[in-house]
Amino acid sequence: MIIILLGPPGAGKGTQCERLVERYSIVQLSTGDMLRAAVAAGTEMGLKAKEVMDRGDLVSDDIVVGIIADRIEEADCANGFILDGFPRTVAQAEALDAMLAEKGLQLDHVISMEVDEAALFARIEKRAAETGGARSDDNAETLKKRLEVYHEQTAPIIPYYREKGALKTVDGMQDIDSVTESLYAILD
Ligand code: AMP
Repeated sequence: MIIILLGPPGAGKGTQCERLVERYSIVQLSTGDMLRAAVAAGTEMGLKAKEVMDRGDLVSDDIVVGIIADRIEEADCANGFILDGFPRTVAQAEALDAMLAEKGLQLDHVISMEVDEAALFARIEKRAAETGGARSDDNAETLKKRLEVYHEQTAPIIPYYREKGALKTVDGMQDIDSVTESLYAILD
């Protein structure tokens, strides 16, 4: 099963992905996590990405498309995967389509988590407190920028998938367990 989980920063994609990974025995592919790992490892790509991520901007399509193309070749992706934070631009969505077509794979579900953006600031503040500020982009100023970027560059992928008839939505403002149940109802 191949799933894309969409939603603005702080929508709860990561939390829900952890549960879906368990239930469906698939792997979570978070480009944000992979980029943070590259930053932590101090690779050249990581060093470049850090600056962009700290500003709340998007890393270039070429970099993230390359990361995903390599990652889905790995053996643990054979049973399926859930994309968290990718694609984030229409160009990335098109690159993903081409990648899957080339491998003879099919996208099973694209699910958008709909949230009230005013609530995201409180959620991100809570995440920053809980993780001891582990993510340098979890602050109100960067979140504001990340939301702008989301609207400008990422939201256009919603009509892209809707036109393909692939899009489903869940109410991301429910409590965490209810969001999970809504996702199971789509995916089971
Ligand atoms: P996330 O953990 O998904 O919120 O991603 C954190 C940051 O990593 C984003 O604000 C971007 O700077 C970068 N990033 C993650 N995924 C992508 C992507 N698919 N395209 C471009 N930049 C990304």
